[in-house]
Amino acid sequence: MKVTKIFKILTIALVFTIMNCGKTPLHNPTVYGLVIHGGAGTITKERMSPEKEAEYRGKIMGALTAGYRILERGDSSLDAVEAVVRIMEDSPLFNAGKGAVFTNEGTNELDASIMDGSTLQAGAVAGVKTVKNPISAARKVMEKTWHVMLAGDGADHFAAEQGLEIVDNNYFYTERRWKALKNAQEGEKYGTVGCVALDKNGNITAGTSTGGLTNKRWGRVGDTPIIGAGTYANNETCGVSGTGQGEYFIRGSIAYDVSALMIYRSLTVKDAAGRVIDKLSGSGGKGGLIAMDRNGNIAMSFNTEGMYRGYRINGSESVIKIYGH
Ligand code: ASP
Repeated sequence: MKVTKIFKILTIALVFTIMNCGKTPLHNPTVYGLVIHGGAGTITKERMSPEKEAEYRGKIMGALTAGYRILERGDSSLDAVEAVVRIMEDSPLFNAGKGAVFTNEGTNELDASIMDGSTLQAGAVAGVKTVKNPISAARKVMEKTWHVMLAGDGADHFAAEQGLEIVDNNYFYTERRWKALKNAQEGEKYGTVGCVALDKNGNITAGTSTGGLTNKRWGRVGDTPIIGAGTYANNETCGVSGTGQGEYFIRGSIAYDVSALMIYRSLTVKDAAGRVIDKLSGSGGKGGLIAMDRNGNIAMSFNTEGMYRGYRINGSESVIKIYGH
């Protein structure tokens, strides 16, 4: 081989290397899965009956299995997150949809958001009273409007216009949450739901849905519908869904912070989540979050006694946990 030819080949190889330097490695299409939460709070074994625990585990398992099937057949993480959150919204066990907590006025006002990490598009609804599945309304906001968040009556009207299922506010009545309102001073209950999924195309979606905090007043809106506070997704880093005292999550930009630490400080998703929960603790806030990066690495961090949580990745069995580490 002539020296000039060798030189040419080496030059091409060098240019190729320089062009790809700094680019992130391609997503491995065999990696897909999801991680979910059903709220963080004062969840301890002592406070839980075996029957209640079995109920929670069963519902989390059902949601994980449904979401995993969607991803397995090659459908989008957006579809998986919406389906999983809807299942949890339809259960009275969680503080979202059917099981939403009561406001101080004895009504139910629901918040939800969803973010597509491939486009950085997002949608959210706040304070809706008649939308059976707020996560679907959030998705409609993302896909059918150029806005990110709709609130109050306008959001309810929009959801109806989009053909989503509308219910009377009484639909959200559950005796358990009503009693919780009456005993609100005994301590707040969480139970927000969330899901982060990674599909076979390497797209990450995050979604979160809640009834907010028991006894909330004056149209209070928490972190759940706020992109960057309760929900965030970016294919370049990770998807995040949070649960806990929303005021602290808003002030701390908690969900975005996990992604920021990965981008700017090159932390792993686990380390980034841990750091952010430490920050939450430092500010006096309580709660937790789930996160998943584009390689299927997950984090489930919290500073409360427990967090309903589970994941299923790459054909593995579902893993479900409730109590502390
Ligand atoms: N983060 C929610 C809120 O502040 C509550 C929760 O996670 O339970 O509205």
